[in-house]
Amino acid sequence: TIHEVLLSLDGVEATYNHAIRALSGVSLTVRTGEIVALLGANGAGKTTALKALSGLLPAERGQIAAGSIVYDGEDATRRSPAELVRAGLVQVLEGRHCFRSLTVEDNLIVGGQVRGLDRAALRSELERIYALFPRLRERRRTPAGLTSGGEQQMTAIGRALMARPRLLVLDEPSMGLAPLVVEGIFAALKRLNREEGLSILVAEQNSTVALRHADRASVLETGRTVLDGSAADLRERDDIKAFYLGFG
Ligand code: ATP
Repeated sequence: TIHEVLLSLDGVEATYNHAIRALSGVSLTVRTGEIVALLGANGAGKTTALKALSGLLPAERGQIAAGSIVYDGEDATRRSPAELVRAGLVQVLEGRHCFRSLTVEDNLIVGGQVRGLDRAALRSELERIYALFPRLRERRRTPAGLTSGGEQQMTAIGRALMARPRLLVLDEPSMGLAPLVVEGIFAALKRLNREEGLSILVAEQNSTVALRHADRASVLETGRTVLDGSAADLRERDDIKAFYLGFG
């Protein structure tokens, strides 16, 4: 079934150090084959929400205090990040974390290791990434730390794709990148979605770009979901942008 619910968050609350309330009611749904944007101003809780659903909060002394997270029909509130990755939920962290001293290609190979691929399979997976991001093929022998911000973001996305996700989660892929580079990255995401049916959840402060590529969007304000709708509807609502997203 094409529209089955792949991920749902319902009334999720989260705290750091049992004290700081970072999320006070986040609800969102990603159906199979959808691109969903999680929007909100700086500090609204986007990163915390993504970490909560990827099992990454405990590593930061954060915890889910209430609500439910269901991924692929199973409770995900207590599953480890590694377990979720094996189940196909793979997150590209904010700030395009690459292993800076490893080459671009070795960064990609690290991403494939969760699947225990043999040499031939690894090669064909690498070819798949290079077909999507031709620039990475040119840069494959270069230490990731010496490549541009856009190339590092592509490397981080490519590494996540090497794990063959069913749901790719991205935290502000546009951050610090030039508009043309951002367009290229979103175009690649759209292509993966169209051609392979990859489901995508992307947190963005850049609502204009995100709404142009997403099917639906959820808006967070101070840790709470305040709006949810089709991207087409939200695109038309200038008042929403001005009020919740901090620019008009
Ligand atoms: P950003 O654009 O910075 O990613 P965001 O919308 O993702 O913003 P979060 O980073 O999730 O927002 O932050 C939500 C709230 O949680 C903020 O008040 C922030 O100060 C707090 N917070 C985030 N990370 C931690 C942490 N590790 N420890 C304590 N508080 C945190």
